[in-house]
Amino acid sequence: MPTFRAPRGTRDLLPHETPRWTRLARLADELAARYGYRRIETPMLEQAAVFERGVGEATDIVEKELFRIAPRTEESESWALRPEPTAGIVRAYVQHGMQTWPQPVKLTMIGPMFRYDRPQAGRYRQFWQFDVEAIGDPGPAVDAEIIELGSRFYADAGLGGVEVLLNSIGDPACRPAYVTGLTSYYRDRADDLPPLERDRLGRNVLRLLDSKDPAMAAVNATAPKITDHLCDACAEHLESVRAHLDALGVSYRLEPGLVRGLDYYTRTAFEFYAHGREGQQQALGGGGRYDGLVELLGGRPTPGIGFGIGLDRLILALEERHGAASVAELSSAAPVAVVVGANPDDTVTRLRIATELRGAGIAARAELGQRRLGKQLDSAAREHAHFAVILGDELANGQVGLRDLQAGTQRAVPLADLARELKRASESHHHGLA
Ligand code: AMP
Repeated sequence: MPTFRAPRGTRDLLPHETPRWTRLARLADELAARYGYRRIETPMLEQAAVFERGVGEATDIVEKELFRIAPRTEESESWALRPEPTAGIVRAYVQHGMQTWPQPVKLTMIGPMFRYDRPQAGRYRQFWQFDVEAIGDPGPAVDAEIIELGSRFYADAGLGGVEVLLNSIGDPACRPAYVTGLTSYYRDRADDLPPLERDRLGRNVLRLLDSKDPAMAAVNATAPKITDHLCDACAEHLESVRAHLDALGVSYRLEPGLVRGLDYYTRTAFEFYAHGREGQQQALGGGGRYDGLVELLGGRPTPGIGFGIGLDRLILALEERHGAASVAELSSAAPVAVVVGANPDDTVTRLRIATELRGAGIAARAELGQRRLGKQLDSAAREHAHFAVILGDELANGQVGLRDLQAGTQRAVPLADLARELKRASESHHHGLA
């Protein structure tokens, strides 16, 4: 056992694993930009109250999973690591007066989130999310646009067949009566409820509907459905979201048990699932409308909608289909050229020439060990470099040897032309670094 290990529920992403992450992050960035979302970065920690209000005190995320930072001094504020991005982004929207910008303000972010959850497959204490938020648009068209964006992200990432689950959770006009009805439904069955769920009955009854406790499945199956209790405005909103999704060719399934159980979440709620995994409580991503949140964090009443797509689970799903990255994939980072030399001691010249090549934009490495030329060439071939730049006696005349390690050919090249030659040769060989 090593003395130190990464904290439970966190992982190191090793060099052969990171290319997949980079690819997804780039894809997310490009896609969001094409849809008009601009990048925002908020701190990984906020005042804890931002999450207590912005996520809700009676949620698992705040009640059980918030990573709180111990105050350093008596007067220091109470901070927490962000468990999700929306609350921090809405805090920034209010703080920077974004309500005076042209609306909606469309923002995107990719970064790590932290939840003190019980670690298991697909559930980590530090995980990554791709997030988009459209603040200042009441919908319903933008709701469909955002859902389509999420679906396209999975398809472009190579995960076909992702299912969209859709619901409406009403608004302050219709939800209170539904909540009262739902509360009495559960009260009548209080003996069948696990203790935590019973405890939440009076505080956040909607949360019981999407409880992860298997003991709740039977009780929930026959619970009253919010979609049967929507006011006209909310019912129309849902109908219109559906019509827009149909027009965009996005298929979805209505799921009346899908909730975001807080007062300031309103209307549209949705989740993305890998096909055939809907029952496993492991959504690939989710989002919804939060028309009450800006006001709750101190701004003027402003509607908003967004989603958070988990990248860890997406990568797991992709690996299930296409296989995991192996250490062998490290070869994709091979240098184009390795500078080797007949005089083992002359590391100065080797390093200087490699540095010049790098300055010219070429991925180059110098052999810095003091080994014989043969050994230097062996190591260049082993790491799948395309070319060896060989420094020998001709260096005195400004010439070096350029060996194509893959073709086995070699010719003399003036040092002054080396960078140009390497660029041309590596382009015509379609070296994998492009
Ligand atoms: P949520 O805010 O809980 O709806 O989470 C949004 C998405 O983030 C989920 O659908 C997951 O893909 C991802 N996610 C949430 N919690 C975790 C976790 N503990 N580990 C890995 N991914 C997570």
